[in-house]
Amino acid sequence: MESRKPEWLNIKLRGNREINNVNNLVKGLSLNTVCKEANCPNLMECFSKRTATFMILGSNCTRNCTFCNVTTGKPEVVDLEEPLKVANAVKELGLKYVVITSVTRDDLPDGGAEHFAKVIESIKELNESIIVEVLIPDFKGDKTALSKVVESKPEVINHNVETIPKLYSTVRPMAIYERSLKLLENVKSMDKNILTKSGIMVGLGEKEGEVIDLFKDLRKVDCDILTIGQYLAPSKKHHPVVEYIHPDIFENYKNKALKMGFKFVASGPLVRSSYHADQVIDLIK
Ligand code: SF4
Ligand code: SF4
Repeated sequence: MESRKPEWLNIKLRGNREINNVNNLVKGLSLNTVCKEANCPNLMECFSKRTATFMILGSNCTRNCTFCNVTTGKPEVVDLEEPLKVANAVKELGLKYVVITSVTRDDLPDGGAEHFAKVIESIKELNESIIVEVLIPDFKGDKTALSKVVESKPEVINHNVETIPKLYSTVRPMAIYERSLKLLENVKSMDKNILTKSGIMVGLGEKEGEVIDLFKDLRKVDCDILTIGQYLAPSKKHHPVVEYIHPDIFENYKNKALKMGFKFVASGPLVRSSYHADQVIDLIK
């Protein structure tokens, strides 16, 4: 098990007025960002560029992934004003590309799919040229729930497989690898114009060959975009970092994935699912 962080994970902290502006706006509207909830290492950079990933449907999750900093707990009442609040925040921040995600709401009959759709529609109503990426839960494999999100026409649907299947029982105990792949496949069969995206963390104890097999599985379901980042444990209680992956290996993964047909790959120690998400803008028709 690795204990000391290598130098390539050192982040330069910068103060910036925009960070406070984004913070105040998000707080003022009682919104959540995954940037803060997940303790993302890129928060300073993203907030300083006025980008953020909104987390809808509350801040308590019904699942218990061992890598995740989001609280597992009693889910909150759904805020029916949230779609409009998010849309207003997007407008206020002047975002052209926005990422929306949520906690997993296994307690709701549709897993929160209708609410996702309303958020997407509210953003598009304020300005239809805003590009929307949603990072969605698996809706327990419910295709009707998924279709609600698809029909609200986000440009990108992301669902992270997070890690190799062998590690699911210790990393994502309430998820199923095949179910997550199926979700990505279903999006394409419902609307082939939507770009699909998935991401993984490395350093959890996977082998390189297993990572390549995962890439193959994602390409079999026609996944377009891939993100690969270093897992960092939020605390000692979380899954340990088994290995710090060298930047050269990230580069190697990227080259292999591009050769396998992904349209865009972000791979690097500090890459997160929504880090520089707007770089795929050119792929959107
Ligand atoms: Fe937020 Fe994503 Fe940036 Fe992290 S990488 S700070 S989650 S927008
Ligand atoms: Fe965190 Fe998502 Fe797992 Fe919930 S389902 S614990 S938000 S990674």
